[in-house]
Amino acid sequence: MQQGERIAIVGAGIVGLCTAYALRQAGYAVTLFDPNPPGSQCSSGNAGALSSRSVVPLATPGILKTAFSMLLDSRSPLHVPAYYWLRAAPWLSRFAAQAKPERVRAIAAALSDLLRGSVQAHTQIAAELGAGDLIRRAGQLHLYPDEASYAKDEGSWALKQEHGLHLEKVVRPTIEAMEPDVGPGYRVGVFLPTEGWVANPLRYARTLAARLAELQATFVQAAVRSMQAEASGWTLSDGTRRWQAERVVICAGAWSRPLLAERGWNVPLETQRGYHLELPAPNLTLTHQVVLADRKVFITPMETGLRLAGTVEFGGLTHKPSTRRALLLGEHARAGLPQLDTAAPSVWMGHRPCLPDSMPVLGPVPDSPGLWCAFGHGHLGLTGSANTGRLIAGAMAGRPDDLRILAPFSIDRF
Ligand SMILES: Cc1cc2nc3c(=O)[nH]c(=O)nc-3n(C[C@H](O)[C@H](O)[C@H](O)COP(=O)(O)OP(=O)(O)OC[C@H]3O[C@@H](n4cnc5c(N)ncnc54)[C@H](O)[C@@H]3O)c2cc1C
Repeated sequence: MQQGERIAIVGAGIVGLCTAYALRQAGYAVTLFDPNPPGSQCSSGNAGALSSRSVVPLATPGILKTAFSMLLDSRSPLHVPAYYWLRAAPWLSRFAAQAKPERVRAIAAALSDLLRGSVQAHTQIAAELGAGDLIRRAGQLHLYPDEASYAKDEGSWALKQEHGLHLEKVVRPTIEAMEPDVGPGYRVGVFLPTEGWVANPLRYARTLAARLAELQATFVQAAVRSMQAEASGWTLSDGTRRWQAERVVICAGAWSRPLLAERGWNVPLETQRGYHLELPAPNLTLTHQVVLADRKVFITPMETGLRLAGTVEFGGLTHKPSTRRALLLGEHARAGLPQLDTAAPSVWMGHRPCLPDSMPVLGPVPDSPGLWCAFGHGHLGLTGSANTGRLIAGAMAGRPDDLRILAPFSIDRF
C-alpha cells in the first residue's frame, strides 16, 4: 500500500468513522459515503457501554434453554413478531448451531483479541478529539434479584474472567451504598470497575467526523448502490454518480448485506432492533452504568439524560418501530429503580448489525482484491469500533499480528 492511496469507506457510523480515522492517521486519503449524517443511525442511540471483556457470544448452551420461549413473549427482552417468523427462522437456526461449548470458547478467544483494551482505545481517541469528558470510567454495575438469578450467568462471568475481566461480586448493603436508588428487588451484583461508557455516542461520532473533516477526509452524502472492480481499484456508484478508489471498506452496519450479495457473498446478516427511552428528568442520579441483568436493560447516565436501552426484536430494516416495546423499557427499569420518573421520554430505535456467531465480518474479501469488510458488530459495535479501525489499518499495511487477529472474522467463514 502506498501513502496517499484513496480508500472509500461505505458507511459513516462509529465503525466507519473509527476506520477512517485510523486510515487517515496512517496517511491514506479517505472518502466516507453515507446518505445519512455521520453517526446518526445505530451509533447514535445505543447504551454507550464500553464492554471490553464482553467476549461471550449470545448463542450459548444456556441461552437456548430460555431463548425460544422468550422469543414468543412480546413482553420479554427478546422477541420475534409474527410477521417476521419465517424471515428470522433460517438465521435463528444458524444461531442455535453456534451454541456448542467448543464454539463458544473459540468465539470468546477471537472476541477477546478484538476487544482487548477498548476502553483505553476510546479514551485515547476522545482525548485526541479534545472530548475526553465523553468517556466515563466509573465502572458498570450488573444487578440480579437474587443468587438463583445470578447463578444462570455464573458460567459466562467465569469465561470473561478467564479473558482478564476484573470483577467484584457485591450484595446488599454494598449495592445500596454504591447506588442508593436501587430498590430492594435487586440483592446481588457484579461490579466491573475497569469497564466504562460513552456519555453521548452521537456527540462522539459527530466530533470524530468534524476532526476527520479537519484532517481533509472527504464526506459524500450518497448511498453506494454498486461497486465495480477495475484494473486499478474500484468504481463506486449511487446509480447516477461514480467515484474511484484503490480500496473500499464496507462499514454499512445492518445495511451491508446487499453490497456483498452483488459480489456473490451470502452473508447471514440480520438486524436485531433495539430501543431506548431517554428521560430528561428521571428523579434520580446514578454514579455508575447500571445493568438489570435479568431484564437485559442498560441504564446509562448520559449527558443528555438517563438512557434506558435494550431489547432484541427481529423485524427487519423497513417495518416501523414498536412504541410499546420501547415503553416496556420504562417498566423494566422501574423494577430496579422504584423512584424512576419515566415521564416525557424520547424514544429511539436502532438496527444492530448481527451475525449468528456474534462476530463481526472483518478484513479483506478473498476473491476481490482491495475490497475489505468492517461490519456486523452486533451488540458491541461502539466498544469494538476503535480497535476495528486500528486493526483494519494495520492489516492493510500488512502487519502480521493484526492480520492474525482479524483472521477468525473473515467473510469466508460463511
Ligand atoms: C439499543 C441498543 C443498545 C446498544 N448498546 C451498545 C452498547 O452499550 N455498547 C456497544 O458497544 N454497542 C451497543 N450497541 C450496538 C452498536 O450501537 C452498534 O453495533 C454500532 O452502532 C454499529 O455501528 P456501525 O457503524 O456498524 O453501524 P451504523 O451506526 O448503523 O452505521 C452504518 C452506516 O452505514 C450507512 N449506510 C447504509 N447503507 C449504506 C450505503 N449503501 N452506502 C453508504 N452508506 C450506507 C448508514 O446510513 C449508517 O450511517 C447497541 C445497539 C442498540 C440498538
